[in-house]
Formats: sequence, structure tokens, C-alpha cells
Amino acid sequence: MHLISRMSQRTAARRGRLVSAIFTAATLICLAPTSHVDAGSVSERRTCATASAATYTVAPGDSWSSVATASGMTTATLLDANGATASVVLHPGDVLCFPNGIAWPASTSQGGCAAKHVVVRGDSWFGISRAAGVSLNGLLEANDATATTVIRPGAEVCLPAGSTPTTTAAAATARSCVSERAVAAGESWYVISRSTGVPIDALVAANNASRSSPIHPGQNLCLPEVGFGRDLPSVVLDAAPVSGACRFANSWQATRGGGRLHVGVDLISPAGTAVVAAANGTLTRQTTDGARSGNAWWLTTSTGTYFFYAHLASFSNGLSVGSRVQAGDVIGSVGSTGNAVSPHLHFEIHPSGAGPVNPYSAIWMFGGCNYDRRFEQTPLS
Ligand SMILES: [Zn+2]
Repeated sequence: MHLISRMSQRTAARRGRLVSAIFTAATLICLAPTSHVDAGSVSERRTCATASAATYTVAPGDSWSSVATASGMTTATLLDANGATASVVLHPGDVLCFPNGIAWPASTSQGGCAAKHVVVRGDSWFGISRAAGVSLNGLLEANDATATTVIRPGAEVCLPAGSTPTTTAAAATARSCVSERAVAAGESWYVISRSTGVPIDALVAANNASRSSPIHPGQNLCLPEVGFGRDLPSVVLDAAPVSGACRFANSWQATRGGGRLHVGVDLISPAGTAVVAAANGTLTRQTTDGARSGNAWWLTTSTGTYFFYAHLASFSNGLSVGSRVQAGDVIGSVGSTGNAVSPHLHFEIHPSGAGPVNPYSAIWMFGGCNYDRRFEQTPLS
């Protein structure tokens, strides 16, 4: 640890000298930072050499490429204007210099509202900007707001030109904190980033922090996106499919016997653990002797989306095809019936009754089942 931190200080010192050298050797837009450069970071405040050059304050979720794209220049041009390389990490609050003649943002500052978004519980400026596919700054400007302006459910937010119309579900799934994670003793940003699969820059930005910000055991951190798979789920669950001790991995499309690919995710749990309805719906089909699935339920929601639950040890008393269930209702128990080598729930999601999609992100996002890489390719069936 000591060695690493000393090395990065040396690297930072070298980078600082390099930046100064570049600035004296070439006519660039920006002057060298007046304050110190911390390891891997752009300095907090910059003086741009040309008075007319625009500056931009980095917001959570920004990257060199997103800022460059939104303002109509190449990433190389932006890096050059700041004497930086792509490996320099941007932190919210960093000030960037733009080359002469380029202002932020290129297209979203004019044009008024292209569309409106009605704020729902859990929305944030960042989440709405993600769902609408626009930059956070473009969104804030279109609403005369800052990142700290409070938005309340029911309020209308103006979406600038170039936005994708949002739906309530899209905004909800893209909100900046998809879950929380309590810090354990001895954990660092790096450790949490690795254990959750959330990139460290996204993690620190979502917590309005930098990599050097201290974190304390017991502190609740915002996890801004789905780890590992990182694709946002097309179906949001209202309950975890297994209620109890549970481990899972992204076993979607893992190879299975007979040349098959796995079209669900396996939730590993002791036999007898409660299997629950992931959403309100109706039990539409049941098998008790599936060669592969063993005891299985099909649970269909009002939108036609259905969930497939296989390998159950038992079905809950009183339930049959046609029974209505609520999210969280126990519908059976974990087992290993059918083609299963050990107790687990095989879980599939079929949006609108169509082919299966990867349920991994939906399960990860809901929480309640712990990620365990060992089950990525374990052929449980
Ligand atoms: Zn399976």
C-alpha cells in the first residue's frame, strides 16, 4: 500500500512537470493549473489563457468523451486544451478549458423543451439525463437548474432537443442510485468497486466524492448502476425471486449439456428456501414432471410479461393455475427437481411474453441475492 501510494505521488509529480513542460513548449489554450495536481486528477480550478475561452464544470457521470461529444469536438481536442491524457480521471467540480470558439453545450442550450418528463419518486437529474440520453449539463441548462436543485414527484422537467422521450420505468431504472451498499471495516473505494462491479469513477461520482475522499465503516454508499453486466434491465422486479440465503452470478447463456445455452439465471439457495412472486400477477401454468424443469411455475403479469420458476421442491398450498399472487407471496420452495444437480431456482424473464432476456441485472438491482462469481459457469441447469 505504502509503495503504491509513493509511486503514484511520483507519477503525479512527473505528470505535473510534464504538463508544465507542454504548456511552455506549445501555445495551448490553458495555463498550467495554479493549485497542485492530485494523483490522476484534473486540478480543481484552471485559468484559461484566452479570456474568451469557455470553461465547463465537470458534473457527475461526465467523461472526457461525453463532454467532448456534447460540445461538438473530438476527445483529443478537449484533452489537448487541458494538457491532459485520457487516463486523467475527471471529478465532479473539476473545471475544464474549452478551445477558443467552442462553448458548452453545442446544441442543447437553445431550442426550449423538446419534450417533458414528469418526475417520479426516486428520480434524480442524473437519472433523468441517463434515461433521456442527454448530458446532465444540457438537462440542467434546459431547466435553469443546478445539480443541487431539488425535484419533486409530479413536477415537469423540460427535456432539451435531442432527448429520447422517457418513460416512468426507464427513468426509474436509470436513477442514479439503483441500490445502496454499507461500507465494511477496511474497505476502500477500490474494494467496493471491485466487489460490486461498478466502475470506480461511476461509484465516486454517484457519491459526490473523489477517489481520495475518506469512507467510513457503516456509511451507506449509493451504487449508481448495475454491476458486472451493467445493462439496465428491461423488466424491474418488485421482489427478489428467492427470499432467504441466496447466491447467484451472471449465468445467462452459459453452456449447458446438449449444446444448449442457459436462458435464465440460477439462484443458489438451500432446499426449502421460500420462492416468491417477483411481481403481482397470475399463475398461468404449472408442471410437476418437466424432464428439465421439474416442478415449475409460470407467473404472468398484467402486461403479459412472464417469469418462469423451475426445479421447485414444492408448491405452496392453495395455489393452482389461475391463482392471483402479489409480489413477495411465497409460491413454492427451492429444490432440485428435474434436471438439476443441486438445489437452486432457475429463473427466467420473458418481457411481454416474448423470448427470454437476461434476468441478471434485474436480480442484481433488486438486491437480496449475493453475487458469487463461482456460479458463472457452474452447470446447475
Ligand atoms: Zn438454470
